[in-house]
Amino acid sequence: MSIINLKDLLCIHKNLGAVGAFSTYDLFSAQGIIAGAERVGRPVIMMIGAGVLNRQGNDEVGRIMVHLAEKASVPAAVFLDHAKDFASCMKAIRLGFSAVMIDGSALPFEENISLTKQVVAAAHAVGVSVEAELGALAGIEDGESSELKLTNPADVPIFAEKTDVDALAVSIGNAHGLYKGIPKLHFEVVEKSAALTATPLVLHGGTGLEAAQFAKAVSLGMKKVNIGTEIKRAYMDTFVREHSNDTQSYDLIGVPQKVKQAVSEVVAADLDFFAEGWKKY
Ligand SMILES: [Zn+2]
Repeated sequence: MSIINLKDLLCIHKNLGAVGAFSTYDLFSAQGIIAGAERVGRPVIMMIGAGVLNRQGNDEVGRIMVHLAEKASVPAAVFLDHAKDFASCMKAIRLGFSAVMIDGSALPFEENISLTKQVVAAAHAVGVSVEAELGALAGIEDGESSELKLTNPADVPIFAEKTDVDALAVSIGNAHGLYKGIPKLHFEVVEKSAALTATPLVLHGGTGLEAAQFAKAVSLGMKKVNIGTEIKRAYMDTFVREHSNDTQSYDLIGVPQKVKQAVSEVVAADLDFFAEGWKKY
């Protein structure tokens, strides 16, 4: 029984850099994420977007995630990513998730605070951790696009104190999906925010950033890094390549094993890098 909430997970990891959080879509991605974490013996966050979990039939994916986390040999959090409403968070908690993100970043500041507080009150009552977001990331998440709005560091301690969130996603020029070229990150936002709060900060949109950018973000206080696209890429590229090698075999037994292996390699490498590898930069 290794399922753990986000607050406790970040606490046991506090002397290391950041913990990786990886997007899950189905059984094979979930198994690959846990296998990668077990290989390097590191805590891991298995996450699923609210837009994915809310698709018909996908409650079962959530249940699989909880089951795999419970029997993992490493501490694993099961995390709902980018829920936009209270009901989605409660649904995930009923499925057994140990952490939820309530994303009120598109709302005015005070409304973001009040929605987040509502989720925190309900989640903390049953030992579930909560992440929120301040400022808005550019890019497309679960089919919804948004414009970049950098986080104002002065808002961070006010928001953290009023809501009692366990982690806070900040917008520093990072984006969801694939970047066109190397993005410019506003590291001063991380540095100033981290100086003003003890609440762990979260970097979304990790795929496509350079190693040196991760290293700098982690050195300045990012404690959780979200990886979505890199998981999809490893999964789909492997699936298509393996099928293309022999289009007549329809090897739906062997190909998913290769997919799991590819996902686990991404996860193992990222967990090592975010925890300790970044120090070499
Ligand atoms: Zn995100």
